Amino acid sequence: MNIMDTNSAVSWLRKADEYIQDKKDHLTKLDQATGDGDHGVNMARGFSEVVKKISDADYQAPGEVFKDAAMTLMSKIGGASGPLYGTAFLRLSTICKDDNPVDLPVFAKALQAATEGIKQRGKAEAGEKTMIDVWEPVSNYFQEATSLDAGKLVETAENAMEATKDLTATKGRAAYFKERSKGAVDPGAASSYYIFSALAEVLKGV
Ligand code: ADP
Ligand code: MG
Repeated sequence: MNIMDTNSAVSWLRKADEYIQDKKDHLTKLDQATGDGDHGVNMARGFSEVVKKISDADYQAPGEVFKDAAMTLMSKIGGASGPLYGTAFLRLSTICKDDNPVDLPVFAKALQAATEGIKQRGKAEAGEKTMIDVWEPVSNYFQEATSLDAGKLVETAENAMEATKDLTATKGRAAYFKERSKGAVDPGAASSYYIFSALAEVLKGV
């Protein structure tokens, strides 16, 4: 089952940018509770640069779009999340190669590789109150899916994000807050939820 062509890859990132600009203050608030308060600004800057970059280009495949997004996120986001999201999109690009359109099994494999990439780069595992706690369940959803249910995708990402409230951070800046990091959603889990909400919107029609 084909799920993504070049246009929908571009739409995904544009929609993700819309969500992130809209939720910038919320992401800042979350990062004030368990970090240094820059996640909203970091993500808003990074994604507006991604949109700028991809608007000027002419792509032959989703993989090319993801590669430009990866490079832009790595170079434009100062915080820990830049290299982590950069790695994720670079892995998406590597697995999707020049497939156009990309089918469901390949996209599932790409998400799995992206999740592994974040883990390696951050030296972290699931359960440490990071963006991994959203990427992994979403990847698992794709591994099992035989067709796409956009509602289920959003629900999986949302539940995963909410579940980070009860976790204690052991990686990243939030780890300095130790037990006090409990009770708030992880900012990177929230931004990942917006990215997957945008994906669900784009995949709604397939
Ligand atoms: P910084 O922590 O440098 O201020 P951001 O505020 O932009 O960077 O991003 C913080 C988010 O990055 C966290 O909420 C978490 O989801 C994610 N993160 C931080 N460190 C790690 C790590 N080692 N592994 C995975 N994700 C991490
Ligand atoms: Mg921060």
